[in-house]
Amino acid sequence: MQLFNSLSRQKEKFEPINEKKVNLYVCGITPYDTTHLGHAFTYLSFDLLIRFLRFQGYTVSYTQNVTDINDRDNDILKRAQEQNTTWDKLTEFWTNKFLTDMKTLNWTVPTNYLFASEQIPSMVSLIEKIINNGFGYVVNGAVFLDINKVTDFGKLSKLTREEMLQRAKDFEEDLDNPDKRNPLDITLWRPSTPNQPPHIPSFESPWGKGRPGWHIECSAMSINSLGEQIDIHGGGIDLIYPHHESEVAQSESGTLKKPFAKYWLHTGTVYINGQKMSKSLGNLILISDLLKKYSANAIRWVLLSHHYREKWEYNESEFTNAEVVISQIIANLQNGTNEKANNQIYKEKEIILL
Ligand SMILES: [Zn+2]
Repeated sequence: MQLFNSLSRQKEKFEPINEKKVNLYVCGITPYDTTHLGHAFTYLSFDLLIRFLRFQGYTVSYTQNVTDINDRDNDILKRAQEQNTTWDKLTEFWTNKFLTDMKTLNWTVPTNYLFASEQIPSMVSLIEKIINNGFGYVVNGAVFLDINKVTDFGKLSKLTREEMLQRAKDFEEDLDNPDKRNPLDITLWRPSTPNQPPHIPSFESPWGKGRPGWHIECSAMSINSLGEQIDIHGGGIDLIYPHHESEVAQSESGTLKKPFAKYWLHTGTVYINGQKMSKSLGNLILISDLLKKYSANAIRWVLLSHHYREKWEYNESEFTNAEVVISQIIANLQNGTNEKANNQIYKEKEIILL
């Protein structure tokens, strides 16, 4: 089997660290709104990979996280404040909605489904290692990773400094934080402010009360659940920078082991009418709405018929066509047509189907 590795930008023979065991981490949702087609495309693409690896005889340990702690004041915290609720109630509500949608789509349940809010000690411990190894610095209760100490910073995204600055701005990273040595330094721990309102989470740490940075959450949850080095790390293509680049820098400067992840796999973006499907543009196709009209199998068929790395455009007719294909396949499977001759084909189709 070959996998396209974002790290080398080429197809590579898949050779896991341990011969028959695969450790895989996929970045999960930030639960402040509903599940849309883009989410389902990413998670079902990895669902197919996991089913195929298991079909090939590998034992797969699969971790997916929930980013229920935001270090920035956008997304969860903004929404919680708007709705006069707390971060934990809001994230619990939307996580349950997501899990219901994904269960209906018969996803492969992760071996470890981890909530950032429940993994704070592992994040604190990793930050301490990064500081002790000389990569991190503490200013006014905040902890940062000094990217100038990471000689291969940028090896995953391959962006120039200017491109990184632009991407970080798009992601509302705290570029202008005066406590940073370099605007691109990674926030590992963000201190609570005096009289911080209750919609913002706060945890104890050696540097005072605060909350972890978004990127360190995934580094710590991956290391804690799967070990210091993993085989495959996945997520949407838009996460390459700053999120995944930061994960590499943090994990490798905390464990002093390279590579943190051997293969990086990224899924393409789903478009609608030429625009990226996104909450801010209000052009989302919701899984819950699709499920009112189409079977879970038809939705799986459409999503998995698109190449996982390619961007693609939503087209309603694909779903109606998929219903026809699915009913034919199910009829053939039930009738056992050409059972022996097509045994392998049936097995492969069963991997895609429920
Ligand atoms: Zn992540």
